[in-house]
Amino acid sequence: MPRIGVLALQGDFREHAISLRDAGAVSISFVKNPQDLQTIDALLIPGGESTAMSKLAKAFEVLEPIRDLIAKGMPVYGSCAGMIMLASKLVDGNSDQETFGGLDITVRRNAFGRQVDSFEAQLHAPEIADGEFNAVFIRAPWVEDFSSDVEVLARIESGQHKGAVVAVKQGNVIASSFHPELTNDLRFHKYFIKLVNQPQSLERL
Ligand code: GLN
Repeated sequence: MPRIGVLALQGDFREHAISLRDAGAVSISFVKNPQDLQTIDALLIPGGESTAMSKLAKAFEVLEPIRDLIAKGMPVYGSCAGMIMLASKLVDGNSDQETFGGLDITVRRNAFGRQVDSFEAQLHAPEIADGEFNAVFIRAPWVEDFSSDVEVLARIESGQHKGAVVAVKQGNVIASSFHPELTNDLRFHKYFIKLVNQPQSLERL
């Protein structure tokens, strides 16, 4: 049974672990130190504050090891700050802010501006599941640019920011600007568990 690690340096890692459990993941562990990485087959990077997460990843010496695991094909899901941590390029990042990479995307931090620091939007992500998603955005980033290897999973569908890319997939890496772990909608976590369990992911074990 593959074990999913939840990066527990900072942010809402507990909520994600609960969502993973409720979505059917059997083996879940928190990741903080390099040795915690030895027992995981996939990683979830929570929302929080990416500048702090980046600093803590360096301090706890997991930045390089996680980078390597993602580059080798480990399945990963990042939400909000987690999406920022997976980006190859940042707009409005701190000058010394490092990421794990994994997605050939340019992410703009705090993209929706202060006046709408937090909001909810209804959107569709047909690759994940049918029907509407109630997406919760909290000082959220968006994907400003992406390579042809990146699949768009969801966009903002109406209003001022219509068309903004807010969920993407590239190989075994998925990311959302919003926070499914703050709702009781488990479809994103179930999709991630399916990705972890697919034969291509399990070949790595
Ligand atoms: N604005 C935060 C950052 O830059 C992300 C917010 C979140 O994860 N809810 O890291």
